[in-house]
Amino acid sequence: MSDDTTKQQLWLWLKSEQAFGLDSVVLRPVAEGVGAEAATVAGPPAALPLSRKEKIERLAAMDREEVRPCTRCRLCESRKKTVFGEGDADAKVFFIGEGPGENEDLQGRPFVGRAGELLNRMIASMGLKREQVYIGNIVKCRPPGNREPAPDEVATCTPYLVRQLEIIRPQVIVTLGRPATSYMLQTKLAMGKMRGQWHNWRGIKLMPTFHPAYLLRSYTEENRAAVWSDLKKVMAEVGLPIPDRK
Ligand code: SF4
Repeated sequence: MSDDTTKQQLWLWLKSEQAFGLDSVVLRPVAEGVGAEAATVAGPPAALPLSRKEKIERLAAMDREEVRPCTRCRLCESRKKTVFGEGDADAKVFFIGEGPGENEDLQGRPFVGRAGELLNRMIASMGLKREQVYIGNIVKCRPPGNREPAPDEVATCTPYLVRQLEIIRPQVIVTLGRPATSYMLQTKLAMGKMRGQWHNWRGIKLMPTFHPAYLLRSYTEENRAAVWSDLKKVMAEVGLPIPDRK
């Protein structure tokens, strides 16, 4: 990893910690001529209780001032629009996908193609409107040809997502598909071993489930039942009534 990339990631990490109220970091040299490492973190460790208005303002400022003009990784070269994410700044449920596709790149909004329509149906089946949840991705620019984001692109972009999560502080995170789940849980396990079970991300419950695009490709009774089972667990966790169907 280059010095520039390391500095960028350190800067983004500092910004994310600011959302939690960090007010200072002491840097000390690791060894003569080697550079410095973050040695001591001062400031309150717990999340600041933000009002809905403050959350909306912080999210809008991050999008406007940092994400839209962002050129921190090569994905900026081919994108048409950045896709920050959208939804309720006070959402109880935060869905995380892999990255923008063609339609998302054109519109600057997450999950607006066929997979988005299915995600909307999944959200509706939970008794929620799309505007009542938050939807984002692990990278904010479209990988060319809809390829999976490369590890360095994910590492460079995800501090934005982490800050969104820290600002919104949802009750539950739902990761859609393997790339998002692998990043959030820092594991290479297969989806079959991760979905359907509760995990923990910085004190927030996390439920992995299949990506709607995968579900469209493999629209089997078994996969639909698996997703519905995962969503019912999320509904129970956030106190939503579970309809007697599916
Ligand atoms: S993918 Fe993320 S880090 Fe890369 S250019 Fe887009 S916003 Fe910046």
